[in-house]
Amino acid sequence: MTNENTAEQNGFATLGITGALLKAANAAGFTDPKPIQAQAIPPQLEGRDIFGIAQTGSGKTAAFALPILSKIIGLGTKRRPKTARALILAPTRELAVQIEDTIKLLAKGAHISTALVLGGVSRYSQVKKVAPGVDILIATPGRLTDLVREGDLILADTKWLVLDEGDRMLDMGFISDVKRIAKATAPDRQTALFSATMPNEIAELAKGLLKDPVRIEVSPQSTTAAEIVQSVVLARTKQKRQVLSKMLADEAMSSVIVFSRTKHGADRVTKDLARDGFNAAVIHGNKSQNARQKALNDFRDGSVRILVATDIAARGIDVPGISHVVNFDLPDEAESYVHRIGRTGRNGRDGIAITLCDPSENGKLRQVERIIRMRLPVIADHLGSPDPQRDPKEKTEAHFEAANDREHHGGRRDGRRPGSGNNGKKRFGGQPSGERQFAPKPQGERPAGAKPNGERKPDGFKRFKGNNKRRFGGKRPANRAA
Ligand code: AMP
Repeated sequence: MTNENTAEQNGFATLGITGALLKAANAAGFTDPKPIQAQAIPPQLEGRDIFGIAQTGSGKTAAFALPILSKIIGLGTKRRPKTARALILAPTRELAVQIEDTIKLLAKGAHISTALVLGGVSRYSQVKKVAPGVDILIATPGRLTDLVREGDLILADTKWLVLDEGDRMLDMGFISDVKRIAKATAPDRQTALFSATMPNEIAELAKGLLKDPVRIEVSPQSTTAAEIVQSVVLARTKQKRQVLSKMLADEAMSSVIVFSRTKHGADRVTKDLARDGFNAAVIHGNKSQNARQKALNDFRDGSVRILVATDIAARGIDVPGISHVVNFDLPDEAESYVHRIGRTGRNGRDGIAITLCDPSENGKLRQVERIIRMRLPVIADHLGSPDPQRDPKEKTEAHFEAANDREHHGGRRDGRRPGSGNNGKKRFGGQPSGERQFAPKPQGERPAGAKPNGERKPDGFKRFKGNNKRRFGGKRPANRAA
């Protein structure tokens, strides 16, 4: 049987994917469509909007990329300078890079140009890349907003818009940016919105942005992948280091992500692991883009088997073969638990998720159990054992939670960014007259992701206020678009 015959008979052909695209998908190992692909590709090829509730790892990248590629390949028209035919918005830089990789893979052999617009890396090269116009632009909302405001990018020709991981965009305070960006795209655009969970704000966003969408739900909301074996280890905070190191001595833990709630905590865990003889890479929003990418590459290629990460930095990371997820502490938001453990058990493989729980975290554990609708078994209880003594030679670091220590409180929380003041620079072009599309948010507005019950304080809120250096083109902190 020839390759072509195989391609013609595979499931993607029956969904309407043809020619070079079908061959490239096949060559990439995408032969049997995943449920989300089977459900989302045909309606998108018909021009319908999509509202997809899907977990990371469900195959949603190809679910939105294949129809867009198929449509762009069929276009005869030329691109205008500084425009993008399709725009994919992702909450984190890592996810955006991954999406571009998948698109390149699927577009192999077709003449499709892609570009990335991300915070934390050189703006100049991005402006240069989009100058002749691109077919598919993958971007994080903050930097994209800057480029549009400065007139380096025009979205009026953008006929396909994808919002990936909508709930995470919400958590990171990106929703106003997303709305403004969507408003600047072609009014007759086709839109797809994906989210792993469905908070009310996402339902509202969908109402505003989608036209008569086809609703797709590939796994029940907030349930965890069935392949992941989950358990709890009871340990006081002071015991956790020792418990973790003992666990990691087991070679069956071949590729492990350890989650920490805060950036400072992630650094501390990494240092303690090094003291205990474990080489671990660390990834969080205060690390430079290069350091983050290096950590990820080292973990992906197996040069380090342990990656310590905060929630946001790890979001969307698709590293195949992660054997274990260890929650060094419980996340502030129960939904994050679902995303954390979703790093393992991907692609139908088995995975193990272990959560270390101090008695003070019992309430958070109950919340997790509520949303995953199951009780997590306790596989070990260290509460009866004494706390280990720390080596007095080790520099003790009091645990404190710095103002911006929690990942979800990045500098974005004040709603301002370089150039957001009226500094005479161009605003978004092509907007209805009189509407200040990119005006700064009024000060004091509650960040989009902040909980009304005061559970989370907008502690990153004041940090960049009045920082003229940043507002007028100064270097943005690395965690801006984390
Ligand atoms: P995503 O949710 O898009 O990040 O995809 C999760 C993983 O599934 C990635 O490693 C993809 O390469 C892989 N994948 C997606 N669709 C398919 C498919 N139809 N067949 C095989 N692997 C797939």
